[in-house]
Amino acid sequence: MASTLTPPKVADQKMFINGKRVDSVSGETFETLNPTTGDTICQVAAGDKADVDLAVKAARQAFESKAWTRMSAAERGRLLYKLGDLVEANSKELAALESLDNGKPVRDSQYVDIPMTANVFRYYGGWADKIQGKVIPMSGPFHAYTRHEPVGVAGQIIPWNFPALMASWKWGPALAAGCTVVLKPAEQTPLTALRLAELATEAGFPEGVINVVTGMGPTAGAAIASHMDIDKVAFTGSTEVGRAIMKAAAQSNLKRVSLELGGKSPNIIFADADVEKAAKFAYAALFFNMGQCCCAGSRLLVEDRVYDQVMDIITSRAKKQVLGDPFDEGTTQGPQVSQVQMDRILGYIETGKKEGARCVTGGQKVDRAGYFVEPTIFDDVKDDMTIAQEEIFGPVLTVLKFSDIDDAIKQANNTIYGLAAGIWTQNLNTANRMSASVKAGSVWVNCYNAFDPTIPFGGFKMSGFGRELGEYALANYTEVKAVVTALGK
Ligand code: ADP
Repeated sequence: MASTLTPPKVADQKMFINGKRVDSVSGETFETLNPTTGDTICQVAAGDKADVDLAVKAARQAFESKAWTRMSAAERGRLLYKLGDLVEANSKELAALESLDNGKPVRDSQYVDIPMTANVFRYYGGWADKIQGKVIPMSGPFHAYTRHEPVGVAGQIIPWNFPALMASWKWGPALAAGCTVVLKPAEQTPLTALRLAELATEAGFPEGVINVVTGMGPTAGAAIASHMDIDKVAFTGSTEVGRAIMKAAAQSNLKRVSLELGGKSPNIIFADADVEKAAKFAYAALFFNMGQCCCAGSRLLVEDRVYDQVMDIITSRAKKQVLGDPFDEGTTQGPQVSQVQMDRILGYIETGKKEGARCVTGGQKVDRAGYFVEPTIFDDVKDDMTIAQEEIFGPVLTVLKFSDIDDAIKQANNTIYGLAAGIWTQNLNTANRMSASVKAGSVWVNCYNAFDPTIPFGGFKMSGFGRELGEYALANYTEVKAVVTALGK
């Protein structure tokens, strides 16, 4: 069934600096591709160090400008709220751009990504005039208080899996706190961030407050991480690049760093759970967004007594998926974002087979144009296998067995990552003990991927540090200043 959305025609894209669309200083461009066909959508300005310099200059000027410093916190909040409204008013256009550039089914971009993007802006609109310090009862004849001041110019580097939503997670708290931003979207999916920057201007954000530099990671991204006049860098992406960013920050101006990195999240089904529901959610926990979620429930741990039942349910769901054009309303699984990602995933599938796991369904590239991979499920997976340990970031589910709660805790934590975990049980003691024992930033009990702008998200261990969303994200964008005033006689 065709959807009401159709793939838009997109003109070549300039980047967005100081309120204007501009070419790159070098004049270079790169192609953004349609993952459904492999065709070029349009050319995009390829930013590099010189472009980042211009964007940072604009962001610094804006940060110090009267237009921004004299704007009340309430007014900043109003602008964020208005941006949320503009996202909603333009949601069809944004959803179509997102599905074209990323390949996600329109039913996801239209009903999940873009509405959530609007809500994140609105949520942080509410915070703008509630960011406040404390009065502290210091000993002696002093009046002491703290101010939570904006950290300054924030560099933000985001991935391609939720392009518009990740921009909102970054801009929302930064703008609420009074920072100005230089964002680099992923080179695979630059289109919606550029459009959001235009909508922010329409909402009334002054020139230079929001800048978007399009370009590659090792050039434009690296220039942000090592820039001497960026006060904070926020990154979402792979653990490997996160490490490079931290190093660049350390070797330049010790800018503040927050990292939201990879995951290999355990989703744990106990035999006393509502097994049908748990298995249904376990499927979505991994396969949503073609498995391209950092918090994907990619290590499904099932208590041995219900293992076969869960396998039956998830395997039959895999067989029912409709792979196809993201613009067809009936499509449940679109392409992977790129040839590189598809090849990586197919490589992991081969490794899984070689290491002795049993591929019970899928396992192949789909024979059509674009970057489609069959939903793939591996049985007989052992915890030390590559596919049980490394982040695949694709539609590949590894299923492992456990015998009791101690075994479940041990296997759940046997990973370098610590982003999320799911726990399925009707026993309160099991739920409580597991929630306390699993080393992960998000624990979902009898649910999975239960996201909301109010709820903090981020990693333990090598999944990064700092929290996004909720009140916690504001700490990434504020400096605490202690003011102590001697009281006169
Ligand atoms: P993936 O492998 O899933 O594409 P990456 O971590 O490589 O994830 O990319 C996430 C974001 O980081 C993208 O915007 C990308 O351009 C950027 N990036 C990649 N390499 C670097 C780098 N060396 N420095 C800064 N940013 C980078």
